[in-house]
Amino acid sequence: MRAAVLTAPGTLEVMDVPEPRGEVLVEVRAATACGTDLKMLRHGHRVLGPYPARFGHEMAGVRLDTGDPVLVGDSAACGSCAPCLAGRAQICRDMTWILGGFAERIAAPEAALHTLPPGLDFAVAAVAEPLAACIHAVARGTDAEDCAVLGGGTMGLMLARLLVLEGRSVTLVDRHPERRAQATGLGAVAVERFDRAHALVFEAVGRPQAWADAVGAAAPGGCVVLVGGCPSGTAAPLPTGPLHYEELDVRGAFHHDRLEVDRALWLLTRGQVDPRELLLPAIGLGELAAALQAPGGGAARKIVVDPSR
Ligand SMILES: [Zn+2]
Ligand SMILES: [Zn+2]
Repeated sequence: MRAAVLTAPGTLEVMDVPEPRGEVLVEVRAATACGTDLKMLRHGHRVLGPYPARFGHEMAGVRLDTGDPVLVGDSAACGSCAPCLAGRAQICRDMTWILGGFAERIAAPEAALHTLPPGLDFAVAAVAEPLAACIHAVARGTDAEDCAVLGGGTMGLMLARLLVLEGRSVTLVDRHPERRAQATGLGAVAVERFDRAHALVFEAVGRPQAWADAVGAAAPGGCVVLVGGCPSGTAAPLPTGPLHYEELDVRGAFHHDRLEVDRALWLLTRGQVDPRELLLPAIGLGELAAALQAPGGGAARKIVVDPSR
């Protein structure tokens, strides 16, 4: 079968590979891409195995054994480490990562599969993975009414949508006018830069300076949730004054658990979160490398790969 394979930093090759082996085989109908995939292509990633490596972690398709449409979750927690036993499976110390969505077929443990309701578009279903991470980030925050989201990429826009759905007042901060227009369309207020403090701030950029900016925009007694992962080995200079004298809570948010993925599928199925506006037209595996490396900017859109193309 054909698969997109990372063979060295910066090098993606589409090649014939042996059929995957594992508990359940799934024919991939749609795999969406995010910033993590670009990081994996450029410099590898902590969850990526040694080269040659498969990637693609937002994928949906059809089980070859039962014919059921499924979302293939990108992880299965061990269930027995200290975080798992404490109810925090998203930071499992022995996580099985299921990567390889950019291929015609993928093998996955039964525990990573979520059956889709009939009729749900496969590319829309694949978005349940990043949406679940946004659901988790909201859960890491407080119930403050006055929220801000720094970064109008697809994660920031989905975060804003979730907060709007909860009836909160949401300000999205992004320097791109196209992304501000997308945020306004979702029911948020959009500004180019922070112009006041907010009780709850989500950082959805993934750069150390943005982490510091998010902390700088929190109101006294406020909470900051750091959603964007920064390049490995980096450190963020945080302002010590407000952290101490204004008792800011700064919390990381990583990944999601199985229930959050189910919740994401529920929201997508009911159209409460509609990602179609965020999805580019589907491309084949052969076009993936160029699409991932295309310059960003402008409106936030996700790459959709249909491996059968
Ligand atoms: Zn992703
Ligand atoms: Zn565990």
